[in-house]
Amino acid sequence: MTSVVEQYLARIESGCLPLDAGAVADYIPELASVDATTFAVSLVVHDGHVYSVGDSTLEFTIQSISKALTYALALRDRGVEVVDAHIGVEPSGEAFNEISVDHRTRRPRNPMINAGAITATALLIRPDKDGQQPTTREEWAPVLDTAFASILEFYSGCAGRQLSMDRAVYASEMATGSRNRAIAYMLQSFGVFPSHPQAAVDLYVRQCSVRVTSDDLAVIGSTFANGGVNPRTGRRMVDGQIARRVLSVMTTCGMYDGAGDWVTTVGLPAKSGVGGGILAVLPGQLGIGVFSPRLDEHGNSVRGVRACRLLSEDLGLHMFTVARESRVTIRSVYDGRELDPAATERSVRDATFLRAHRERIRVLELQGDLTFSGVESVVRRVEALQNRTDVFLIDLSRVGVVDDVSRRLLVALLRTRRDGAAGWVVVDPDGVLSGHGAPPRAPDSTPGGDDVAVTSSSAEAVEIAETMLLGRAERSG
Ligand code: GLN
Repeated sequence: MTSVVEQYLARIESGCLPLDAGAVADYIPELASVDATTFAVSLVVHDGHVYSVGDSTLEFTIQSISKALTYALALRDRGVEVVDAHIGVEPSGEAFNEISVDHRTRRPRNPMINAGAITATALLIRPDKDGQQPTTREEWAPVLDTAFASILEFYSGCAGRQLSMDRAVYASEMATGSRNRAIAYMLQSFGVFPSHPQAAVDLYVRQCSVRVTSDDLAVIGSTFANGGVNPRTGRRMVDGQIARRVLSVMTTCGMYDGAGDWVTTVGLPAKSGVGGGILAVLPGQLGIGVFSPRLDEHGNSVRGVRACRLLSEDLGLHMFTVARESRVTIRSVYDGRELDPAATERSVRDATFLRAHRERIRVLELQGDLTFSGVESVVRRVEALQNRTDVFLIDLSRVGVVDDVSRRLLVALLRTRRDGAAGWVVVDPDGVLSGHGAPPRAPDSTPGGDDVAVTSSSAEAVEIAETMLLGRAERSG
């Protein structure tokens, strides 16, 4: 059966599919040939688990999302000082391809607009052994191949699989990209551009033409969420300080002239591309990849923006809402053999049965504030254990605040199992599941009846769990 998290994503999908506003980018002619109706959302959580809906394995070109990755690579390979000497970190409030620099410093304002991104790319073109940058096409061809190989290697490491370039899209942008050449030559005229303008644009267009899927974007996002370590491969791609800097710049500059509105409503560092992709990150928790080719006037995917908004609202992901780390939500998991038997009088037959089958009761003790990411790991743990469990005892007595999505996910989990294998006993002395201050619901479980009970006492919970186990045994003969 689909997990309750997937059901959430499916709801987001149905909230986005009816949107058909916007237009596919066509200033790079090859981009106009994509199927405009496609749509995908992927989510990668802290341990690398991937959730996705829609066309999540369909490849499209990364375009400007590459800017965040190449900036990270330049920081790693050239160091913060060199990079800062060439590129600022101030939001420009301008369109991505604006021909602009900071008037005072004459540096591009940030690495997320084309001027800054082309400069970051230029910083990766290594000089020859005499310290000279290539000056002719013959000279830069092999140098660019080497530089692009390291860019592709880095992107692939962040995505956790080997990526490749879309040659047709590359050729198409090379044939039409006068504006980017103009930007690079303008920067050169200021006297501080690190390489040949044409070489830099060529390398920049190659990186924009790397093919990714929404799953890839979500894994890349989770790598940055995770302080620079890809959670699926365990490989460190950048150090924590670089990851933090890239996320900071994505927060203030990633969505171009829509950045302020984006931070206010969605509240996730993000980067979009005219290929239709958006990569978003909830620091410390998860990576998000969305894809749909039709763009708004800023060059951001229309459905992608909506999907991010819905994800942020429905799953409570705004970075200033999320209080604590999610990986500590599950305090411990153990089975009924570790519980003291209830003090209730039982027949010899029942007592013998319980002694032999106590391990079919499973206890999950949760703690802290419950937010999406923490409850997601609870849901997955329950799903993994359900074949070996007849009764789940969920102990919420150490839980503080439960946000809306977590409450709904937990309730959905209890509901979807009612006709299934497991019974449920919830220990909830503070009424956190039913809303703060509300009195806990009285147990409503009788053998053969409804298999969900909420109680305020741990001792009573054990008794109910045992009775449920006996009831289930009787029913199944
Ligand atoms: N390659 C594109 C360009 O430079 C990328 C733009 C984008 O995705 N916003 O024009």
